[in-house]
Formats: sequence, structure tokens, C-alpha cells
Amino acid sequence: MSYFRYIDNGEGPTKLFIGGVHGDEGKDVLPLIKLLSNEDFSSGQIYIYNFDKTPYVSTIHREFYESEQGKKILDLIDYYKPDFYTELHSYNIKHFEKLTSLDRLDKDGIPPLIDCSQYVLCSSVSPLIRRKHFTKENICQTLEFPSFRGEDLKLSDDELFEKYDYDYDASVHEYMSFLRLITLSKNRDDFEKRVLKDYKKQADLALKYVKIIYGLDFPRY
Ligand SMILES: [Zn+2]
Repeated sequence: MSYFRYIDNGEGPTKLFIGGVHGDEGKDVLPLIKLLSNEDFSSGQIYIYNFDKTPYVSTIHREFYESEQGKKILDLIDYYKPDFYTELHSYNIKHFEKLTSLDRLDKDGIPPLIDCSQYVLCSSVSPLIRRKHFTKENICQTLEFPSFRGEDLKLSDDELFEKYDYDYDASVHEYMSFLRLITLSKNRDDFEKRVLKDYKKQADLALKYVKIIYGLDFPRY
């Protein structure tokens, strides 16, 4: 069953959160979404969706936004016109190097994801939608939670720790820390302040990538 939660916190920014964007990611991020209590949110109108399994198409490919699932998400964006738009993804931990590599920029013209530590990654959203469906003032963020697929699924927690130095609780803590920057921020300035305080290195990288992709006159989030 797809999950939906609406929090009416009165006047304030509109925030839209989408989990289960594609594939089976919803099952990885739903437990994380459920860790958010109403006190974790600023004032405003909060909408949280987490979708069941859909065919996996990458959001960097146009086909995604032409698919039933992609269109559904675009409809939600265009309907709510969120001030804060956040995609909650998960990824196969095996792809950590590939996703954070600068090759992504050279080969696909897509900014690499940024390492927030504990295998949690962040970035803006797909360049295919950032300019067309949002204003410069909007905050657009992607968060990626590490998960295991394939043969890694057969490993015990100890073996996973051995192989990847991976600790589920530490990754959850990191993911939630970044997510709460978004949920708690009252506006763009507030968000920027919080990010620069706790994630200065990541913010610097985001600025570097956004200049390459969009040019000088574009915000990093
Ligand atoms: Zn994803």
C-alpha cells in the first residue's frame, strides 16, 4: 500500500517529499520517513508520499518522466508547487564509487552525488526537471540511502560491516540529520544557514557542480 501523510502546520512553506520514486526504493525509505514526528517539521503545509514498487527507470533519463510513475510525480509537483521538494531514494551500495565519481559529469552531463558520510548521498534533483518545474527560489534535494541487493543480501550484518565498513544505524542517523535540515527549515535562507553550518564541504561541492551544469546564475539546491 502506498503511503501518504499530510501535516497541516498552518502558514508557511509548502514541502513535498517523495519516497519510492522508482523501483523498489519505497521499502528502504518508508521506515526512515516513519521516524519523522510532527515536531520535526517547520510551520507550513507538508505532504509526504511513498510509492510501492514500480519499474525502475533512472530519473536522469527522459523516459522516466514519460512513464506512468514519472508523470504522477510531475503532476504532484505541478499541483502543490512546493517551496521545498525532496526525493528520498535508496541505492545499491555497490554503486557508491560510480555515483560519486566525476565521470558522471563528463560522460552523462549529470552532477555526481555528494557524499554526506556513512554512505548517505545528497544532490539536487534531475536536471530534466530542476529548471522546468521549479523556480530558482525553490529548494530541491535528493537524498540517497545505502541498501544492499544481489549477493550482498546473503551477508550477515557483521560481514557487511567487514566488507563495506557499513553500519545501518550510523547511516540512518546521517540520513535523518540531513532530512531534518529540510523538514525544519522555515525558508531558503534558513535552509542555507543550516546546511553551511553542518555540511559546508558538501555545499561547496554542490556549488561547483551547479556552476558547471547551469552556469553562474543558479542556486545550488
Ligand atoms: Zn532512486
